[in-house]
Amino acid sequence: MTMTDGTDRDALREKYRAERDKRLRPDGNDQYLEPTGRFAHLLDDPYTVVVDRPPVREDVNVAVIGSGFAGLVVGAKLKQAGVTDVRLIDKAGDVGGVWYWNRYPGAMCDTAAMIYLPMLEETGTVPSAKYVPAPEIHAHARRIATTFDLYDGALLSTGITGVVWNDDSSRWIITTDRGDEVRARFVTVGTGPLHRPKLPGIPGIDEFAGHAFHTSRWDYDYTGGGPGGELMGKLADKRVGIIGTGATAVQCIPHLSRSAGELFVFQRTPSSIDTRNNHPIDPDWFASLEEGWQKKWLLNFTTLQTGGFADEDLVKDGWTDIAQRIRDRVVAEITNGGEFTPDTIRRAYEESDDEKMDEIRTRVDAIVDDARTAEGLKPWYRQLCKRPCFHDEYLQSFNAPTTHLVDTDGKGVERIDATGVWVGGEHYDLDCIVFASGFEVGTEQSRRSGFEIVGRGGSTLTERWADGMQTLHGIHVHDFPNLFVVGITQAANLISNVPHNFVEAGETIAAVVAHAEAEGATEVEVTAEAEADWVSLLEGNPMAFMGNMDCTPGYYNNEGRPTGRRERLNMSGYPSGPIAYFDYIARWRSSGEFVGLDFR
Ligand code: NDP
Repeated sequence: MTMTDGTDRDALREKYRAERDKRLRPDGNDQYLEPTGRFAHLLDDPYTVVVDRPPVREDVNVAVIGSGFAGLVVGAKLKQAGVTDVRLIDKAGDVGGVWYWNRYPGAMCDTAAMIYLPMLEETGTVPSAKYVPAPEIHAHARRIATTFDLYDGALLSTGITGVVWNDDSSRWIITTDRGDEVRARFVTVGTGPLHRPKLPGIPGIDEFAGHAFHTSRWDYDYTGGGPGGELMGKLADKRVGIIGTGATAVQCIPHLSRSAGELFVFQRTPSSIDTRNNHPIDPDWFASLEEGWQKKWLLNFTTLQTGGFADEDLVKDGWTDIAQRIRDRVVAEITNGGEFTPDTIRRAYEESDDEKMDEIRTRVDAIVDDARTAEGLKPWYRQLCKRPCFHDEYLQSFNAPTTHLVDTDGKGVERIDATGVWVGGEHYDLDCIVFASGFEVGTEQSRRSGFEIVGRGGSTLTERWADGMQTLHGIHVHDFPNLFVVGITQAANLISNVPHNFVEAGETIAAVVAHAEAEGATEVEVTAEAEADWVSLLEGNPMAFMGNMDCTPGYYNNEGRPTGRRERLNMSGYPSGPIAYFDYIARWRSSGEFVGLDFR
């Protein structure tokens, strides 16, 4: 295949390798800094005034730790299953998780609302558009909490300090920074993978004398404007720099471009920007959907996004597009007498990806006026090496005379000083730096959540998982009875629509808890054998990790560092893919046998 610019496939591979090699760093994930010192406030909650309350000392049936979509969906599913006395605990001042913390201008989700927003039918919600903005997503999170009475007794603005199993009482003892002691029969932990802000380890970062903040704690007092995308009037006479061009930056840069006196975008690696094509949802059409539609849509999207077949593409977006190109190529090859082998899939994947990335680079040329800027904005890697982005205003921003791309050619910002930043020996004077540098991924669960979980016999979850996650279904951990982890790993591992994982986890956990209650069991725990069997099933998966060493570095591939067993386990999913997992887990929980769990 020859690309639009005349490059052939071998030359393209060479270019991808060269671009990756420029970006590989020996320090990998250690290049990032935790917010400390002058940046320590980035871990605080600027949105809610904490009101004093007396410490709570109580017994509860289920403590739900984390009130993002993971906790909310599990809480709602527990309630639907008839489980009572469910207590949400979160350090944020309200429910919503990442949608509580991220209020940067332009924040929205580019997974379609019809499938991204969980429990639309149960809450009677009509999304306003195909892709909806962050405030609408946050409102939906609140609606789930209200519909299922999850605000009742919720301990918000409450940071957990410890979760310790007590064998004598068969209870988890949860302590908090508000002096609480909650004794819970069951605990669910859904603290999310992407919420603790990290900063780039750029020399001199502490020296900057101007204003600086992280995208997840947008400082509207300084910028003016608001999360609704209003013009940030206070930036009109400011020279603003933004460091990072990931999915977050792509969404806020058009707003900064409109508002700032001058905007400097410091880029290390360009994102791939496909079209978004957003449109409003017609309420009449929505009303005509048949009961049970959301499950159908969820399965349709996941089937198509992971290479399966369906009569129609209900969501029809960039996620399903690439998967269908791969699938169609495999079908064409087999129809023409070829064999179905891993090599067939690899070839189909490479050809589809080359075609897609060629389109994405061609789109840059079509939109961006200045040829040098356009060249800098072209991504040279496979689409799924990084989070694919979809936006109809990002590339256009670079046509504004006040918006400047500062491409660091993969090296990143050299240094920061009191008055600005250095790149390629050139100094950029700045009034304000916005860090769009992402969130901690791959560090220990205790560091990201801020607390340790101590199981039976005194061992911590961090110790248990020192060599990688060990679970049954990503949920149950041996020696941690009555505790349920809510995430995506070691289960479906469906990255394109994270809440879908939570819906399934919620139904599964609710079924287990309801069964324990019906049986009068005080403890439920995965057997060591069942856990080991599940882990070896996952390890037998040759496709366990979609990123690979050829990819440009990022959090999808351990920043380009070798991935050992620990990293692979921490990113593993069901070998036959998400749809097979959802099918498997539905049968597992509805059989009533709960194979692998010990109820006593
Ligand atoms: P990311 O980790 O994706 O991006 C961090 C950015 O900072 C990268 O561009 C990185 O460059 C850059 N960077 C790091 N260090 C330096 C340096 N020293 N100099 C210059 N640049 C530097 O964080 P995001 O907040 O953008 O996104 C996190 C995740 O949140 C996404 O992957 C996605 O899962 C989710 N998200 C989803 C959205 C959606 O639905 N549209 C919107 C926003 C976020 P490099 O690439 O070279 O490492």
